Amino acid sequence: AHLDHVAAHDPAVHAFLHVDTEGALAAARAVDERRAAGEPLGPLAGVPLAMKDVVVTEGLPTTSGSRMLEGWRPPYDATVTRRVKDAGIVMLGKTNMDEFAMGSSTENSAFGPSRNPWDLTRTPGGSSGGSSAAVAALQAPLAIGTDTGGSIRQPAAVTGIVGHKPTYGAVSRYGLIAFSSSLDQAGPFGRTVLDTALLHEAVAGYDPADSTSIDAPVPAVVAAAREGAAAGSLAGVRVGVVRELGGEGYQPGVLSSFEAAVETLRGLGAEVVEVGCPHFDYALAAYYLIAPSECSSNLARFDAVRYGLRVGDDGARSLEDVMSLTREAGFGAEVKRRIMIGTYALSSGYYEAYYGQAQKVRTLIARDFAAAFERADVLVSPTTPSVAFGLGEKVDDPMAMYLNDLCTLPASLAGTPAISVPCGLSEGLPVGLQIMAPALADDRCYRVAATFE
Ligand code: GLN
Repeated sequence: AHLDHVAAHDPAVHAFLHVDTEGALAAARAVDERRAAGEPLGPLAGVPLAMKDVVVTEGLPTTSGSRMLEGWRPPYDATVTRRVKDAGIVMLGKTNMDEFAMGSSTENSAFGPSRNPWDLTRTPGGSSGGSSAAVAALQAPLAIGTDTGGSIRQPAAVTGIVGHKPTYGAVSRYGLIAFSSSLDQAGPFGRTVLDTALLHEAVAGYDPADSTSIDAPVPAVVAAAREGAAAGSLAGVRVGVVRELGGEGYQPGVLSSFEAAVETLRGLGAEVVEVGCPHFDYALAAYYLIAPSECSSNLARFDAVRYGLRVGDDGARSLEDVMSLTREAGFGAEVKRRIMIGTYALSSGYYEAYYGQAQKVRTLIARDFAAAFERADVLVSPTTPSVAFGLGEKVDDPMAMYLNDLCTLPASLAGTPAISVPCGLSEGLPVGLQIMAPALADDRCYRVAATFE
């Protein structure tokens, strides 16, 4: 049924870069056989899922939204892919994304943008916009995305679904095509808080193949979601409203939906306090030095030798020329911009002034969080400053595009978990409420989100 729905609607939505009809049907049949044989199956066995194309999948095309990897079929599965398969979840295919996960609208995809099912003239957010569009368009009940600076939470918010950026290290990065390694984190999308929790528990957990994987029990997010829904009360929960994440630069309709959401939390019994996080004002500047710096290093591997595209290799040109021609042809404009910013920020004489300073700001942001979590159990903000914007509206203005990340960047820089849940409509388009918690307290995000939902 989901494959039929994809066939009917994906020509308009363009959530998928590759639909694996055969593989999905075989996986579904395998689950049926396991069920018939009386094997114990997990709660998501047989449930379809859309996988972001930044996650490698054995034998299936994996492009990361780039011409550079067009036609590449990885010889192995990412840990996330493996866990999805082990849970009996049926992968329908690979979803569209901004090239190498750099962007907020999927317009940086080398294969054309995805469209927001709420209004096909608008973007479904990014970079995991194919995943959010697939879930919002009922093409798949679940999806995997990755979030480096907001790429799960922002697309979830603007398509009216739930998206969770886990604590950094909770979900293995093994087999994710690296963008900014100290920030990249995979996580779940769902249409409900409980669905999202079930998917998180299926993919999270220690993996020795990822050196930053956390060797600790996965927070019990499914139990927290069930408890939150059953309790229907937030009595005893302290909710901190972050003063810096609101006001100027935010659409009035977003702010009024957010204020209504805070009133709902109060009505559910939460104690609402205002908290100040003064260094959040510098998150954007710090992120747009750290992420490009790390990407300039990570993307050096696309050298015309190891992977994918090779241009100008006519036997007469030098290796260096082939590399330059290949990188010139294979990378899009935003990726080139980031590589240049990053290379500059890391170069001798500038490293301390740019990259080093940005890392110090990161520490100050983590301290703001620590102080705020003394006074509140969770922090809340709008997920994005605006509702879904029009295709083409911001493509020529990188700064306007980067401003989408205002609210999501602090938790990325601090490595702390955050979830976005739908909290109403503005101009007929969805608005997201972001709920943030301390590291390894992802269950708190789910507890509050499920009660709110
Ligand atoms: N929009 C941000 C960027 O362009 C975040 C992307 C992401 O989280 N992958 O870098």
